[in-house]
Amino acid sequence: MTRTGVGYDLHRLAEGRKLIIGGIELPFEKGPVGHSDGDVLSHCICDALLGAGGLGDIGSHFPDTDPEWKGVSSLIFLEHTRKLLNARGLFIVYVDAVVVTEKPKLGPHFPAMRAALARALGIPLERINLKAKTNEGVDAIGRGEALAAYAVATIGEAIKPAANARERIRQIEKKAQRKLRSSSRPRKRP
Ligand code: MG
Repeated sequence: MTRTGVGYDLHRLAEGRKLIIGGIELPFEKGPVGHSDGDVLSHCICDALLGAGGLGDIGSHFPDTDPEWKGVSSLIFLEHTRKLLNARGLFIVYVDAVVVTEKPKLGPHFPAMRAALARALGIPLERINLKAKTNEGVDAIGRGEALAAYAVATIGEAIKPAANARERIRQIEKKAQRKLRSSSRPRKRP
């Protein structure tokens, strides 16, 4: 069975902050305000994966009140999320995301972002699709005051044989042999 999760994130932009999206630093005069590196793309992918796994949200796993997560690369959140999923027999199938920002142009940086995200998630980069949108100059994103991202993640459940699978198969075979023996025995005449 596969499961799906959705993620959304928005950060305000301020001067003097590094702009990091998808684990990659982009040359720009503004960057997101946030406790970690404010990477909207990594954050919303993290939330999508946690959602698909039934594991709550990014805030419950990496609270912004915890000094451990201050200024860290958000790729660490993705690595940690992948481990949480794998420990439950869940594996990442596909991630699709869209980043909404007026500037700068993101397309040229997508190959590097996909590579960084794929490494953190432990999947081939063909399993990550990224898209870029502007907000047509409208609202806070359109005015360059914020940027946002949306993601949908699909995960699969590993098919694990039951702990007693071998014993059960042996019992089923035994039963079948008994049936076969009794059916081939000559019948007593009444
Ligand atoms: Mg965030």
